[in-house]
Amino acid sequence: MRAAVLTEPGALSVVSVPEPSCGPGDVLIRMRGTGLCGSDLAVHAGHRRPPRLPWILGHEGTGRVVGTGGEVSGLRTGQDVVIEPDYCCLTCDTCLAGRTSACGARAAVGLTVPGLLSEYVVAPAAFVWPVAPDLPAEDLVCVEPATVARAAMRRSGIAPGQSCLVIGAGSQGLLLCQALVGHGVTVYVQEPNAARLDRACSLGATPLPPDTGGLPFLFETSGAPGAVEQGLRRLATPGTAVLIGMSTAPLGVSPRDLVAGQITLIGSMIYDHPVDFAQTVGALEARTPPRLGAVVGAGYPLEDVEQAFTAAYTAPGKVWIDLS
Ligand SMILES: [Zn+2]
Ligand SMILES: [Zn+2]
Repeated sequence: MRAAVLTEPGALSVVSVPEPSCGPGDVLIRMRGTGLCGSDLAVHAGHRRPPRLPWILGHEGTGRVVGTGGEVSGLRTGQDVVIEPDYCCLTCDTCLAGRTSACGARAAVGLTVPGLLSEYVVAPAAFVWPVAPDLPAEDLVCVEPATVARAAMRRSGIAPGQSCLVIGAGSQGLLLCQALVGHGVTVYVQEPNAARLDRACSLGATPLPPDTGGLPFLFETSGAPGAVEQGLRRLATPGTAVLIGMSTAPLGVSPRDLVAGQITLIGSMIYDHPVDFAQTVGALEARTPPRLGAVVGAGYPLEDVEQAFTAAYTAPGKVWIDLS
């Protein structure tokens, strides 16, 4: 089968690799599409190191079941599925308490185990979600990042009628804008890339006016320390800041800023199994508008993976690889 492999930072090639073998609790999937996101770009750019090279990236994937292990029930050949690409252990105290995102044994697809930019993948059945057969791949490649967005919104406690600032309108920021607008929240957005800002506005967000008073909620998707600091200064007192974007650069915020601002700081790491994926898949099946695919930009065939990664750094909307 063909797969896109990172051979060194910044260099991808499409090669022939052996098809993965399906264990008794696994599902073999013929992939239809895989989305690209910031964490893929971080590995591609050399900011995050994969376990080895060459390495298969990608964690936002959809496909069709073509085989199941002997112990799998509830999934059958021919079903369309999305993959929940964070395999927590489901047995440690953290998992049993429902915070699977903090599981110390969690395998992260595309980061600690091989990713989804290949024609076939195997995944543990517990992390494979069946979906309706007639949904567009553009919607399905957004399920995973949309779940990251919805988990951030859930953890924030923001209610309909409230307002917030979203910093960054890359694909994660766009999905957050979409989820928050759908929740009845007034969304202000800050994004230096004009095309991305336009895209956020098309989803119902408003550019942040310079004279807005303090806002009760901040969702930060860029991870840039300067942007986080600026966002914290736009918070009302008290305020809640939900950080989603990641970088290793330190933040210049004093304890006084946090205490006097009465700031609740939430580090929102992915999502928790199974509640968050169940919610996104449920909304998708209920055809609750708007369509997730409204945030999708260009689709590229696998052989153009290099151009796709290059485009993903600045493109308005999510870039994805069409593997069908
Ligand atoms: Zn992602
Ligand atoms: Zn665990």
